[in-house]
Amino acid sequence: TRHVAFSSPLLRDAGYINGVWTPGDAAAKTFDVLNPATGELLASLPDMGAAETRAAIDAAYAAQPAWAARPAKERSQILRKWFDLIVANADALAAILTAEMGKPFPEARGEILYAAAYIEWYAEEAKRIYGETIPAPSQDKRMIVIKQPVGVVGTITPWNFPAAMIARKIAPALAVGCTVVSKPAEQTPLTAIALAVLAEQAGIPAGVFNLIVGLDGPAIGRELCGNDKVRKISFTGSTEVGRILMRQCADQIKKVSLELGGNAPFIVFDDADLDAAVEGAIASKYRNAGQTCVCANRLYIQSGVYDAFAAKLAAKVADMSVGDGFRPGVEIGPLIDEQGLAKVEDHVGDAVAKGAKILTGGKRIDGAGTFFAPTVLTGVTRDMTVAREETFGPVAPLFRFETAEDVITQANDTEFGLAAYFYAGDLKKVWRVAEALEYGMVGINTGLMSSEMAPFGGIKQSGLGREGSRHGADDYLEMKYLCIGGL
Ligand code: ADP
Repeated sequence: TRHVAFSSPLLRDAGYINGVWTPGDAAAKTFDVLNPATGELLASLPDMGAAETRAAIDAAYAAQPAWAARPAKERSQILRKWFDLIVANADALAAILTAEMGKPFPEARGEILYAAAYIEWYAEEAKRIYGETIPAPSQDKRMIVIKQPVGVVGTITPWNFPAAMIARKIAPALAVGCTVVSKPAEQTPLTAIALAVLAEQAGIPAGVFNLIVGLDGPAIGRELCGNDKVRKISFTGSTEVGRILMRQCADQIKKVSLELGGNAPFIVFDDADLDAAVEGAIASKYRNAGQTCVCANRLYIQSGVYDAFAAKLAAKVADMSVGDGFRPGVEIGPLIDEQGLAKVEDHVGDAVAKGAKILTGGKRIDGAGTFFAPTVLTGVTRDMTVAREETFGPVAPLFRFETAEDVITQANDTEFGLAAYFYAGDLKKVWRVAEALEYGMVGINTGLMSSEMAPFGGIKQSGLGREGSRHGADDYLEMKYLCIGGL
């Protein structure tokens, strides 16, 4: 299966504009997509930019009224067909995903099904975009609220979940009658291409879903934000780029949904089930080699169980299998690129220089590919870089704490507010801590909480809006108040 990405029937070496696979300007440049586990070339794609983005926006704008006018049930059925095709092709999609992104094949397959679940969910929700009637203040009036699609949506997504991040945006947008111009990350455009191939097969009409592939994110982003035919930007990625996009959207008061960085605390109290907490920490910290915005970034362990937790965690982590995601049994794949690896090395180096101890791991793995050994650090303190910045790698830094008040203060001492986790037994403490954590999502006695049925999103500088659940559709809808008089 190694070379499937070269020959998969689900791939094209083109973007997708107005229902046509577009190789870009004939004289134009191309860019390479590499396998991070081996460094080998997977594909060479047209390097599209502002001109192609504009053409895609025009197509989306022209297609939007007819798409919105279709009965909700028809949009629902087309999305449902797309879901069925994704599930039927899950292995082929997962192989493309592992090849370009590196996560272990079973994890990639899990992501494909997770992405598909958003499409299934919003195929169902498409039929439930309810309005409202309001009691009128006088006998001759009636007051009604209807919901309408915002219009053309531009989406920009990252490489860590090449399928799920796109599905989370496109599914609700298409369900409610928006059309989309989508730009995947330059590292992982192949999964997006394969999803678009299946969208075409599902009967999504020309212009409704357009895909721009290219290296120049800033140029594509400027066109999406500056073009007044685009009514909304939905972005997942770094807080830094989120700020740029929000500024660029200010001129036209363009709506934005932002899923940005996190700095998730993972708290283990003395009365926690320690084995469950270790399992949860592994799931939350090492999934996707630590490259998710909801990965535990700071682990706070109460002093009564600190040493026991550290020993149990380190023993499990030392046994984790690292390697090419296509090798059976591998649990940790490569980091996405050299830059990602350098950041992890930097965070570990800084912690060790300031007194942290390495219980296991702590270094890159020599040879081809960008691999870092899964790591546990003890004796971590708040003056270290790992306390403030998202590491985005397989490193668990363990901080020691004494009281609930103290750990809540430390956990909230960040500009981020995406996900938090804690393990505790006492019900009173569970409720108090859950309320006190300044985060959009809190996992209690669990390290995994994402679901298409739940609202995913952050507070503070982690973002705006929610993805998934019945609330996720609101990000793509406008409310219109109708007042009928003279009755
Ligand atoms: P990551 O650290 O996950 O790569 P980024 O925020 O840099 O996060 O990238 C997320 C997405 O944003 C990618 O698709 C990338 O190409 C795109 N991007 C990067 N810079 C900009 C920009 N200035 N304007 C628009 N999109 C950008």
